Order: sequence, then structure tokens, then C-alpha cells
Amino acid sequence: MREYAADWEALKATDPEVAEAIAGELERERTTLRLIASENYASPAVLAAVGSTLSDKYAEGYPGRRYYGGCRYVDVVEQLAIDRAKELFGAEHANVQPHSGATANMAVFGAFLQPRDPASTVLGMKLAHGGHLTHGSPVNVSGMWFNFIGYEVDRETEQLDMDRIRDQALAERPRVILAGYTAYPRTIDFEAFRQIADEVGALFWVDAAHFIGLVAGGAFPSPVPYADVVTFTTHKALRGPRGAMILCREEHAKAIDKAVFPMMQGGPIENNIAGKAVALNEAMTPAFRGYAERTVRDARALASGLADEGLRVVSGGTDSHLALVDVRPLGVDGKSAETLCDEVGITLNKNQIPYDPNPPSAPSGIRVGTPACSTLGMDEPEMREVAGIIGDVLLHPEDAGTKEKARAQVRDLMQRFPLYP
Ligand SMILES: *Cc1c(COP(=O)(O)O)cnc(C)c1O
Repeated sequence: MREYAADWEALKATDPEVAEAIAGELERERTTLRLIASENYASPAVLAAVGSTLSDKYAEGYPGRRYYGGCRYVDVVEQLAIDRAKELFGAEHANVQPHSGATANMAVFGAFLQPRDPASTVLGMKLAHGGHLTHGSPVNVSGMWFNFIGYEVDRETEQLDMDRIRDQALAERPRVILAGYTAYPRTIDFEAFRQIADEVGALFWVDAAHFIGLVAGGAFPSPVPYADVVTFTTHKALRGPRGAMILCREEHAKAIDKAVFPMMQGGPIENNIAGKAVALNEAMTPAFRGYAERTVRDARALASGLADEGLRVVSGGTDSHLALVDVRPLGVDGKSAETLCDEVGITLNKNQIPYDPNPPSAPSGIRVGTPACSTLGMDEPEMREVAGIIGDVLLHPEDAGTKEKARAQVRDLMQRFPLYP
């Protein structure tokens, strides 16, 4: 057998312009610190699967039931991904075809709701409190076609208040209750959500995009025993290729599979599905458990380090891979904090905080996440170092010397924890 997969030399020879941009991005990744909570570094094995010739194959349908011939090997790969997802998460059914988190969520709408039907209501987190674009934003199809009602975090604790959510559910009688967010740092009480859903006869859906990698590694509670359906991306804390998956109870399996294909998608991206299978296999190892635990430990160390620098940690801490941090105590807003950190090689994003008095364009907070740092092996001492750098830079925004020193510290840190061979 002659084996063959992605060939960097061939790319450089045929298309130096694209090759140069890719090389530039790798150099950027190697020299800057990644604190974006939704980003990570896929392993060389995952990248090899994604860069493989499975990209060439059409396979509309599901393993054993395809609309194309020649699916013998893609069937093997897709079935491995399905079996591993079910085993890893203890799920009754898995669909591994969604191209992205947004498409996976569309499939949930397609399976359970009718567009422009006033009775098809979804109770989800208000976007300004940490919900996702696909959870009812007016510029997204979710908000254009479906009727979203928003719950909020408590003003004092900045955490979910299950009693208030229950009251809202009893008053609104939603068809679907949605948990799972983009900027909520604390544990989510999935059991309480399940009880509320049962009480009002709603379906319970968890969008686990951000934290599913922690669930895989045993560092965050699993929604799978409680939810009817769980959607998630594979490229965030789970550390796989770009893409998504849906887990559900057997009773919803047919509806979900039909909603993914043919309702929302055509041919599956089998090379990415191979990457998902590889990532799931990696997620079953003790090393991955270590990574997941370190990710949460790192987030806690980073949050408490930033608090020591004078910043205010929203909700007082974190139980996950991310922290939401109010930067106003240092006299800056989230937008300038993002820019200042970027100038010294730290990438993070500005973020609204709950009940933010400032506009989304210049919100009061930043979101920081540790999956990428943890993948590189960074631990609590490094997170304290990073918190110190961020504190210095935000406290002295005009000082060129501070920035010069911070840049050198970031480069040194990245040299001590090198990325990719
Ligand atoms: C990232 C994310 C998504 C969307 O994923 P894409 O792959 O970018 O479409 C959906 N929901 C949540 C909660 C997310 O964090």
C-alpha cells in the first residue's frame, strides 16, 4: 500500500502566496499567547486526518445507507466517530456530520420547531448575558424565524438563578429550554434545568460548544444524562478539527439525523469527520483528563491573578475554562484592553458583562480562556505570570517600556512551551 496525505512541499511549490499566509499564521501562533476561550491547537494527528484524501469523497447519507457508491472506507471512519462519541459521552445516539456549531443548532430548530410559529418558543440565555449568536440574535436565522425568550443571570451573584428561570418557564411555557453559553464561567445545574423542562413539558437542549472538552476530560458536569439533545463544536476545548456534533436520546435520533441531512446539509465533510474520530480517541486518554483538569486549574489561577492585579472577576471566579473580567477598575474598557493586549502578543476578546452599562462596541469586560495554554502544558505559575503581564499593560497603557517588556515576556513564555514540531 502507498500511503499519502497532506503535502506541505507541494503547496509551497504550487501556491506560494497561500503557503506564505499559512506559514505566517503558524508563526503568529508560535509567538503569541492564545487566551481566546473558543480556540485551541488540534494535534498533528487530527491535522493529518483533516488534510487527507477523504476530502475528495461524496457520501450523502449515513454509514451503510449512502446515496453514493464507494463509501466503504468513509463508512468505517464515520462509524468510528459515532461509536467513540457515544462511548465517551455515554450517549444513546450521535450525529457527527454538522459542519459547524451554527449548523448543528439549525438542525435542532429543524427537528423540533416550526419557523414563524408563535407557539415554537425557546427559553434561552439573553445574548448580552452570555448566549450565542444562534440563540435568537435578531441578525441570525434563529432570531428571525423563531421566538426566543431570554433569561438572565442574577444581578448580585452574576450567576444563574434557577428559581427565576423556573418562574419564567412556568409563565412562558416554552417548547424548548436551552442551556449552554459562550461567556458563562460557572457550573450549570443540568439536573435543575431537566426538572423545569419536565414540569412545563419542554424539550431540554444543551449547547455545550464551549465546555464539552472539559466534560470529555471529567472536569465539568456532563449534560448528557439530563438533556434531550446536546450540540457542540469539536474545535474548542475538545481540541478536534473545525466542526460539530449532536448527541441525543434514541427517541430523537431519526428527527436529528433527518434535520442534519437532508434538511440542513448535503454531503458530509468526511476528512473532518476523520479528524473528529481522532480527537475523540485522544479525548479518552489519561493525558486528556490531565489537560482538562489543568485547563480549569489554569482558568482559576488566571482569574485570581487578574483579581490580584485589581480587575474584577465577574461572578467572583470560575468553574470552567474561561473567566469574564470587568476591566473598568483599571480605567480602561474591554475594547482598549483587547487592543493593548494584542500589541504585546496576547490575543483575547472584549466581551460584554451582565447588565453592562457600556455598548457592545466598547464593553466593560474581556473574556479569557485557558484551553490553548493548557494544551501547551502551561500551569498555575505561568497563569500568574500572564495575569501580571496583563495587569502591567492595562495599568500603563501609554508606557512604551512596559509594552516592550511585556512583549519579551510573552515571547519567552511561548519559547518555553513550543507549539507544533
Ligand atoms: C462557538 C459556538 C457556536 C457556533 O459554532 P460555529 O462553529 O462557530 O458555528 C454555537 N454555540 C455556542 C455556545 C458556541 O460557543
